Amino acid sequence: MKKHNFSAGPCILPEEVFQQASQAILDFDNSGLSILEISHRSTAFVNVMEEARELALELLNLQNKGYKALFLHGGASMQFLMTAYNLLNKKAVYLNTGTWSSKAIKEAKLFGEVIEVASSKDKNFSYIPKDYSVNEDVDYFHCTSNNTIFGTQIKSFPKVSVPMICDMSSDIFSRELDFSQFDVIYAGAQKNMGPAGATLVAIKEEVLGRMERDIPSMMDYKVHIEKESMFNTPPVYAVYVSLLTLRWIKANGGIKAMERKNSEKAGLIYNEIDRNPLFKGFAAVEDRSAMNATFNLTDESKQEIFDKMWKKANVNGLSGHRSVGGYRASMYNALSLESVQVVVDVMQELEKKA
Ligand SMILES: *Cc1c(COP(=O)(O)O)cnc(C)c1O
Repeated sequence: MKKHNFSAGPCILPEEVFQQASQAILDFDNSGLSILEISHRSTAFVNVMEEARELALELLNLQNKGYKALFLHGGASMQFLMTAYNLLNKKAVYLNTGTWSSKAIKEAKLFGEVIEVASSKDKNFSYIPKDYSVNEDVDYFHCTSNNTIFGTQIKSFPKVSVPMICDMSSDIFSRELDFSQFDVIYAGAQKNMGPAGATLVAIKEEVLGRMERDIPSMMDYKVHIEKESMFNTPPVYAVYVSLLTLRWIKANGGIKAMERKNSEKAGLIYNEIDRNPLFKGFAAVEDRSAMNATFNLTDESKQEIFDKMWKKANVNGLSGHRSVGGYRASMYNALSLESVQVVVDVMQELEKKA
């Protein structure tokens, strides 16, 4: 039986995407060939890549606004250094809201001066710092929209006069934003879009070309833009499955509809966390993520029984990350409200037992 999958990443994708994806391995669009055995230069695959790039921009409402979409290798972690390689001449400002931001900062330091403008490390990244301002004399400002591990999410982005770069790996396509406020958006596919192996980058072309250093081809956004994400063999299957998810998002009402469903799911679980005396939330209430809800038991001795109960209810992936402990319910686009209800029911059952 299919499980209720709360895994943080790789994670749940729509059931029909799994169906279509498995069909394409056997026979891709009735071509008599598997998607895995065709040339990435074939018309069939070039069409996949073009549609994926266009659809990504369409869903983000970035078409005809000077943006290019790319599908690259190397995960979001590669973007930590690629953004700096391409855009950090002297100085950049980073907001540190967790493990992923910290890793981005570490990479950027290889390329220039990094100003950590604010950090929530003092409270184990359980909130989003808000009182800071970004100087005008820097190359860019970098932030992480959703902190997958700690369960915090930026609700309101600062107004900055320098280019803004955002790691949206774990909440891309989950909520409506004015995406044109960002100059570079990147996201590893495996949290809300597809399988691991592809990374989406949406980049405003005008921010490129100001760099003083030489950039190796594979690291150079301009090369990938010019070659339309086909400088070398792209991660064909990851791109294809991402395309299937993007089509699914569009067919199901776009980001607006995803956001409505996501806030319903988040409301359901956070209500229970706040109501049920056996649980407490980890993140500051106003910064709670709609994607990853982090919470703990108020009485740790109930852990064993609670773990048994949710596993028996066919739930997968509810254990928290080791740096937070407790529990984390990752509720990406494809997760149903019914799955969240199953967890809430188990939380209430535990309460009755106590
Ligand atoms: C998972 C994650 C990453 C790392 O992604 P990789 O594709 O494994 O490199 C970076 N940033 C955020 C916000 C993430 O959730």
